Amino acid sequence: MNGDETFSREDRKFMKAALKQAEKALLIGEVPIGAVIVSEGKIIGRGYNRRNTDHTTLAHAEITAIRKANRKVGDWRLEGCTLYVTLEPCQMCAGALVQSRIDRVVIGAQSFKSGCAGTLLNILQNNEFNHQIEVDSGLMQEQCTEILQRFFKDLRRRNKMRKKEKAAGEDGSGEDGSGVPGAGDPGAEEGGKQSFD
Ligand code: ZN
Repeated sequence: MNGDETFSREDRKFMKAALKQAEKALLIGEVPIGAVIVSEGKIIGRGYNRRNTDHTTLAHAEITAIRKANRKVGDWRLEGCTLYVTLEPCQMCAGALVQSRIDRVVIGAQSFKSGCAGTLLNILQNNEFNHQIEVDSGLMQEQCTEILQRFFKDLRRRNKMRKKEKAAGEDGSGEDGSGVPGAGDPGAEEGGKQSFD
């Protein structure tokens, strides 16, 4: 983890843009994670988590941002680019980032459940691979954590309400009732120690 002095004003600006993406996920009931990819001071790809909405494992914020940046530059390589992401990348996204040859990854909050930028594994900086990525963590960590906590707090509240309704015999619809896709995700129920993602 790096201190806040690691980051420039520009870094902050782009993490804010990533948080804006996370807000989009929140609005559609998805775990709020957002990412942007920057090349020469410009955003060339944006993405936010849409896993439940799109019914695909692949709809993580980083993958969508990579896809869009690829389209923008007309190349699978993202050399010279930086990805800003609100939550530490998982194994899939970290793998894709190494494959993209991106230069740098800036991370907001740490993921204790699937973080592969040093928490569980460090896929981004493994010397066995042909590419290693500069990683800077902890930028606007509080804001990036807060939005996730807000989501899970609300999810727990909804789950509690649903249980109450069930106990009262009012819920005969057969629907999941929570209105929140992914309510059944492991780790989503208890929240515990920041089990985001
Ligand atoms: Zn991921």
